[in-house]
Amino acid sequence: MSGFLRKIIDLLLPPRCKKCGRIIGDDDSLCETCFNQINFISAPYCSRCGRPFEDISGLKHDHLLCPDCAREKHPWFRFGRAAVHYDDFSKPLIISFKFYDRTDHALLLAKWLKIAGKDIWAAGADMLVPVPLHYTRLIKRKYNQSALLAKELSKLTGIPVEYSALVRHRRTRPQVEFSGKIRRRNVRGAFSVKHPQKFKGRRIVLIDDVMTTGSTLKECAKALRSAHPRSIDLLTVARTT
Ligand SMILES: [Zn+2]
Ligand SMILES: [Zn+2]
Repeated sequence: MSGFLRKIIDLLLPPRCKKCGRIIGDDDSLCETCFNQINFISAPYCSRCGRPFEDISGLKHDHLLCPDCAREKHPWFRFGRAAVHYDDFSKPLIISFKFYDRTDHALLLAKWLKIAGKDIWAAGADMLVPVPLHYTRLIKRKYNQSALLAKELSKLTGIPVEYSALVRHRRTRPQVEFSGKIRRRNVRGAFSVKHPQKFKGRRIVLIDDVMTTGSTLKECAKALRSAHPRSIDLLTVARTT
């Protein structure tokens, strides 16, 4: 688009803060007040799962592991990373993106994913795989928010997206309705791999909007593992803990 055309569009439809709607100078962004309220996850965090540490007094800063990861001899993923804490400040942005057609948030959130995934990019990644929706839900909601995130992230990183080889073949109730154990049961066996050769020997990055207990991502990883990938990483916009 020419600069002149852009100026006319900006004049008619000035860019607004994605959260509060205040007019700002930059597209795909937040105003300073809203940006400062977002709780970005920063070091120190568990070097495997990305869980932020509240108190690290007495611990060394390199390669810190949380108690869960320290216990796990055969972890089911290589790295887990999230950009922000899922709290009262990030929640409205993610909910409106996921359920209320604010698909224009995808680029902003993908920029956050790119920053949060720096350890993953450094270790190497071959493909982005969004957590799939069941087709009935996709018809109802019209878009898969994770696929939109993966698409924008792919443009920013140059890593291709695999949209269709991991499928959700069983319809599940929304995970927000359940907690802990029941969440795990709700998604058990819900995913399968259609073309295992696409994943064999590849370094896969699973993309989702929010990680709560990790049950959904774990079930996706289980299905993907049957295709013998080289590694599986988890990258989400937000995490609850
Ligand atoms: Zn704002
Ligand atoms: Zn950990």
